[in-house]
Amino acid sequence: MQKGYHVKKNDLVMVIAGKDKGKIGKVLKVIRKKDRVIVEKVNMVKKHVRPSAKSKGGILERESPIHVSNVMIYCEKCAKPVRVGKKVLEDGKKVRYCKKCNEVIDK
Ligand SMILES: [Zn+2]
Repeated sequence: MQKGYHVKKNDLVMVIAGKDKGKIGKVLKVIRKKDRVIVEKVNMVKKHVRPSAKSKGGILERESPIHVSNVMIYCEKCAKPVRVGKKVLEDGKKVRYCKKCNEVIDK
């Protein structure tokens, strides 16, 4: 059975724990095997890169994965992290919605 994650790729989330607490970003990748997500501009780590044909080298900043429990769906309407519920629309489409304002998250 597939594990039910509360976040998906391209979701807007807020970091609720760790050094990047309070940051908002888009989920770039969900790593299901490790229960981790990569969020745009969150948990940036510096990597030293040697000069190569592709780049000049130097220090490169990249996102590194954070635990999925450290993020919550961010509702733009509420302007805060929120819990989401699931519902089925009239056309049969399953969507997630903000439990606070009922705004549909899955567009
Ligand atoms: Zn909301």
